[in-house]
Amino acid sequence: MSVEFFREEPTARSSWRLAVLMGVNVRTYKFAVGEALLGAAGEGRTDILLSELAEPYAMSLVEHLAHAPQASSKTAAGELDFLTVAQQEAAESVRQGSPTEKLLAAAMKSMPAMVMQKFHNLRGSGASEVPHRFYEVTGAGQKRVVRLTEHLRAVALSEQRENLQTELVARWSIVETSFAAGVGRSLIEEGIEVDLETFRITDKARRRSVAGVTDAVIGFQHGRCIICAEPLIAGVDAIAVDHVFPYSFKRLLRGSAIDLDAIWNLAPAHGACNGQKSNQPPTEGQLTRLALRNEAIMQSPHPLKKTLQLILKRHGYTGGRVGEWWDFIQTVRNELR
Ligand SMILES: [Zn+2]
Repeated sequence: MSVEFFREEPTARSSWRLAVLMGVNVRTYKFAVGEALLGAAGEGRTDILLSELAEPYAMSLVEHLAHAPQASSKTAAGELDFLTVAQQEAAESVRQGSPTEKLLAAAMKSMPAMVMQKFHNLRGSGASEVPHRFYEVTGAGQKRVVRLTEHLRAVALSEQRENLQTELVARWSIVETSFAAGVGRSLIEEGIEVDLETFRITDKARRRSVAGVTDAVIGFQHGRCIICAEPLIAGVDAIAVDHVFPYSFKRLLRGSAIDLDAIWNLAPAHGACNGQKSNQPPTEGQLTRLALRNEAIMQSPHPLKKTLQLILKRHGYTGGRVGEWWDFIQTVRNELR
């Protein structure tokens, strides 16, 4: 089904989103390397020394380690584990504003064998990879060079580059929150909640904001407006969060448990499109895009997937069968006729 997401828009950008948004994560290495790659390719570079790439990689991990766990509590970190070294070297690296020698060496040693080998994998298995390759590691030792492909530059220099950056940050935040003891359990078992005043995803246990709804879900709708299907450009367009089935329809749902304020019904849109739509019912095209968007989120591991699964189960679906979002959205539409 993640294949479906790619088929809707078969571009390098969709491959990137498959890798960043839909992979299984037991650690957050992938986000750190993704950020470093976007940075290098965004400067138009065609190749970069591994040691140069390792620097932003190690620093962003160290910074994230300061406020959240970067590995699932299920994985025990060994002595030689990169995260163990990062933890030990964090304070000194932050103080000097660059990774310590020991941290850099550990990053350079672990990157090619670990994250750089797995970045293109789907679902953590070696069996299937995203359709585009973004880099190749060549050479050996200190002379290792990362060759950045044209696909990576197409992604990093595209009009959606800012979105891709904020999507990655939001996904990183969601994943690390799910790693936090206690919080993680409630997110994984109960899913996420949306604060409707700020349109931010919050973790119930700590009542803390995790990520904006827009940043968390926009990648799953290919960075496009749910209403007009044109791109939503961060920093250029005014972006609103649309209730696809308008909030005012609530009164038509007397006695029904359907929650129109939940994430399944919330989708980023141009501010202008949202204003024009107002309280009108969604069109066929909008409902199709919403179903596809939700099906794509179902391919992304906890906790966004869990949230959508729980909604389906509450209404009698299995929560695991492809296509259930089409059926559920038709049901809601019929109730509102
Ligand atoms: Zn629009």
